[in-house]
Amino acid sequence: MPNIGLIGLGNMGAPMAANLLKSGDHVVGFDVIAAARQASAQLGVEIASSAKASVESADIVITMLPAGEHVRAVWAEILPAAKRGALFIDCSTIDVTSARAAHGLATERGIASLDAPVSGGEVGAKAASLTIMVGGPERAFAKVKPLFELMGKNITLVGGNGDGQTTKVANQIIVALTIEAVGEALLFASRAGADPGKVRQALMGGFASSRVLEVHGERMIKRTFDPGFRIELHQKDLSLALQGARALSLSLPNTAMTQELFNAAAALGGKGWDHSGLVRVLEHLAHHQVAK
Ligand code: NAD
Repeated sequence: MPNIGLIGLGNMGAPMAANLLKSGDHVVGFDVIAAARQASAQLGVEIASSAKASVESADIVITMLPAGEHVRAVWAEILPAAKRGALFIDCSTIDVTSARAAHGLATERGIASLDAPVSGGEVGAKAASLTIMVGGPERAFAKVKPLFELMGKNITLVGGNGDGQTTKVANQIIVALTIEAVGEALLFASRAGADPGKVRQALMGGFASSRVLEVHGERMIKRTFDPGFRIELHQKDLSLALQGARALSLSLPNTAMTQELFNAAAALGGKGWDHSGLVRVLEHLAHHQVAK
């Protein structure tokens, strides 16, 4: 069993660590927040005194941090403490430039690394059913595939370093625009006098069916906007899409518009809402709620 170092024990990192423990792996974790360290210790994760200390005996190092700046800083800090032959995996969702810079730091030290962002949210992290989009060398991927299988189900090596992050941005574009579409559809149905719950149920079997209609549609109807996936994290992801599009001279009109709706949600106090809370902005414009 490999020794695993896992840095970033937040909403995603903690349940991922718990699933690795179930197979008997030894997981040493670290987080800058004391409450996160305590919660993971209760799950059986051994807590190290620092990020560096968490990787000293690790064969595999996983980071699950908020953004690119955190990953670059943490990798720069911990790479000098890593064992020879260790393999680094970043599961955070970050910009491709930071991902490639972090991989560059690892390469300088002769350490193989993968970007492996995930989709499926906290629910998928707990159920070990995450979709994992991987970029990096095939040999490194083959070595850690059994480990990915403890945390996820749909696991794909997309290409070289950075391609996992590119795939994740594509995923986030689809999810954001679908949330917006489901929000408009349920708002329309409700305003027209139909029962939005029944409308959702009717649409679930047809061509408009999706996981977003199923999960987020239900959230919009039941008014459960506790995260889940926070609006501020989705704003970060759409920024990655829009910055990337600008660099590629590419127009993504509906991505830009949906980001504006997330910005409006933040202005209404919703940075910390689940991203399905985007519907509240549409409701604000319509002066009508999908459901009470
Ligand atoms: P989170 O904020 O709950 O967890 C991140 C953790 O990293 C926090 O506990 C924070 O204290 C810790 N951290 C920050 N800087 C650190 C440092 N220097 N050293 C050690 N720990 C540090 O966020 P999350 O929801 O777990 O998301 C993590 C990543 O996964 C993000 O990139 C996010 O976009 C992505 N993601 C999240 C979800 C989701 O549904 N929450 C789904 C898919 C992908």
